[in-house]
Amino acid sequence: MQNICVLGSTGSIGISTLDVVKHHPDKYRVFALSCFSQIDMVVEQAKAVHPQYIVCADEAQYQTLKSKLNDAGVVTEILVGEEGLITIATLPEVDMVMAAIVGAAGLAPTYAAAKAGKRILLANKESLVMSGSLFMQSVKENNALLLPVDSEHNAIFQCLPQAIHSNEQATQLGIKKLLLTGSGGPFLNTPLAELETVTPEQACNHPNWDMGRKISVDSATMMNKGLEFIEAHWLFHMPKDMIQIVVHPQSVIHSMVQYQDGSVLAQMGRSDMRIPIAHVMAYPERIDSGVEALDFMQLNELTFCPPDFQRFPNLELAINAVDAGQWASTALNAANEISVAAFLNRQIRFTDIARINAKVVERINACDLNSIESVITHDIESRHIANQILRELT
Ligand code: NDP
Ligand code: MG
Repeated sequence: MQNICVLGSTGSIGISTLDVVKHHPDKYRVFALSCFSQIDMVVEQAKAVHPQYIVCADEAQYQTLKSKLNDAGVVTEILVGEEGLITIATLPEVDMVMAAIVGAAGLAPTYAAAKAGKRILLANKESLVMSGSLFMQSVKENNALLLPVDSEHNAIFQCLPQAIHSNEQATQLGIKKLLLTGSGGPFLNTPLAELETVTPEQACNHPNWDMGRKISVDSATMMNKGLEFIEAHWLFHMPKDMIQIVVHPQSVIHSMVQYQDGSVLAQMGRSDMRIPIAHVMAYPERIDSGVEALDFMQLNELTFCPPDFQRFPNLELAINAVDAGQWASTALNAANEISVAAFLNRQIRFTDIARINAKVVERINACDLNSIESVITHDIESRHIANQILRELT
């Protein structure tokens, strides 16, 4: 029996994780849950899975959660805030940590799980984008196991002959390129002039995937692919020119690995995150994810095209950040969290997201980020600049 801690259990990935667990009560036990604003949902989840711990990340909601759990007759330990998240991510009883909090808020508990040598199921790509080599170093030093949930990275991981620990090793294994596929989101073919006026509802209406609001907007701007480019760079020790973005609107192929001999291996499946979630939970074994197999007789066509950098300026910002260094990736991620939230609040236009992101990277000072504390300080500074630019704009 494996004990799992689900950071961000009330989100899209968290819910899918609990669904996979539900199908395997003999293999997995939910040991800890965490929520931020959705108290009623976490109470329902607790009634179903009886966790040992629940963390209420928003301390202001503690009393509400406590009394609702009490009314529901659920007996569990309640912890609060970031400290509570770090506690559940590092408890000795916890075998695996699903890192599914959205954004920079996920960094501290995910990093703590790495330091505690846990098996980490990584959905929270932002934490790796923010702290790249520090995070990978901590995984290595503490013998943690980092398994990618993000469907593209999970696909690449499945197409590799073994885990990659250096670029030399990748080259020795005959790996030529990672082909990172992306659907292009809801605005792939929208006339450019119309992008100025698209709404949050349109941006969140992804053609293939049902996801949280922040990552949905990131998919519409293709910042998601940009963050994933940086994520792939760190996870697989690949330089920029060994990662290629391929637009594939049907999201059937979730990414590919190209080898020296001309072979290309692809991982395919339905657009349902329970597949990569089940994969990382059971790895190296396989379990039922609850998702039906792909029916090739129902597929009309698979198409591919290069990314359009004019339509998706965030992509170029992210790729350039890999060259510039950690300070640029961290700043870009922070700026993007502020600009996406402002767009979702209808304070700015869709096209302002990339403008703000670019300006923050331009204005922030380049610096060495050689500790998690310096990453967090730099993240705060970047948010400060993003908010300044936001005020200038609105
Ligand atoms: P959601 O917005 O659906 O869920 C986010 C989760 O994080 C919720 O449980 C939310 O709590 C919690 N949360 C939000 N803010 C905070 C905070 N400040 N402190 C602590 N917890 C917080 O996001 P997704 O599930 O879509 O995405 C989660 C992560 O997984 C992201 O990093 C995303 O990039 C990644 N990912 C998601 C995919 C998807 O298909 N959804 C695919 C690949 C990667 P509450 O709801 O209670 O407020
Ligand atoms: Mg992805």
